[in-house]
Amino acid sequence: MTTLGLAGLCKTYQGADHRALAGLDLTVESGTLTALLGPSGCGKTTAMKLVAGLLRPDAGDVLLDGRSVLALPPERRGVAMVFQNPLLFPHLTVAGNLGFGLRMRGLSPREIAARVEPMLERVRLDGLGPRRPVDLSGGQQQRAALARALILQPKVLLLDEPLSNLDPGLRDEMRCLIRGLQRETGITTLIVTHDQAEAVAIADRIALMLDGRLAQSGAPEDLYRRPATAEVAQFFGGVNFLPGRVAGGQFHATFGRLALAEAGLDREATVTIRPEAIRLGEGPNTLTGRVQEIAFLGTQSRVTLDLMATTLEALVAPDVAESLTVGQEIAVNLPAKALWVLPQP
Ligand code: ATP
Repeated sequence: MTTLGLAGLCKTYQGADHRALAGLDLTVESGTLTALLGPSGCGKTTAMKLVAGLLRPDAGDVLLDGRSVLALPPERRGVAMVFQNPLLFPHLTVAGNLGFGLRMRGLSPREIAARVEPMLERVRLDGLGPRRPVDLSGGQQQRAALARALILQPKVLLLDEPLSNLDPGLRDEMRCLIRGLQRETGITTLIVTHDQAEAVAIADRIALMLDGRLAQSGAPEDLYRRPATAEVAQFFGGVNFLPGRVAGGQFHATFGRLALAEAGLDREATVTIRPEAIRLGEGPNTLTGRVQEIAFLGTQSRVTLDLMATTLEALVAPDVAESLTVGQEIAVNLPAKALWVLPQP
């Protein structure tokens, strides 16, 4: 079992006017599946390539169990990477693709066959070993690419958006397969995605990158409920940012006072609450709001509320929204445990 460490990684591509990575620090604990999440262009693939040894950093280090691997070529790092496109060798059979790395390591044909067959079974490609990659479906090709990486028993597995080219049904199947194989093998795994729902569904921990840096890492619930910054909250669909002052365990704003679950230090602060945590109706932390807008979104409805010139968005069940009318004054309950005081920058 191996802990992966990224320490202060910086990278600027030749001719580029900004840094792809601007001091990325991240620890992927041994045996965990961590999702590297972030918007397009924030540097996720660059980070993976630096770990795999396909690129050199301008500064910083890549550590496996505390030891730098920067001086090692890709094939000696113990890191395997699976890309968005399966990139199978087209001239080799599926079995040939799986066995390729083992052949490079000098294993005999018999030893290779003894490992390839069970691996094909594990990714549910049994019987397809003699086929060429072109005769596999997209999902099968992606499973073959995953098997080709796993068969090398890497210390660290890097998966760069392995689900993004698959249609929704296959995506679920592949997600379960990755999760199952990771649990079974315990290989420290970093999976890149820009889809927050996918990250939450598959990973033990999420590392959110924004602008070439780590914005926050932790359990998915932490990033949702206890975002480190307004940017993190916004990435996870946060829209409510209330300015005011924390004093004596309460939040004082222009629209009224709210009890907080945890008494922090008295200071100017911004409080955030997730739209789905807001309750319409009486409760212990209730204010009066005016309904500004109601939008039906399918499984939920968005109700925009005006609290004395502060706008708040609530997500409620469509039948709750149906009973409201624009302009109506209603009780808005902001449960204390759902109010999060953003940490000081
Ligand atoms: P995506 O989710 O779209 O794949 P990403 O988070 O993986 O994006 P990277 O591919 O790492 O982001 O790119 C980070 C930044 O570096 C982007 O601004 C990108 O345009 C730039 N970049 C990536 N590769 C190169 C390259 N070979 N030459 C110049 N700039 C590059």
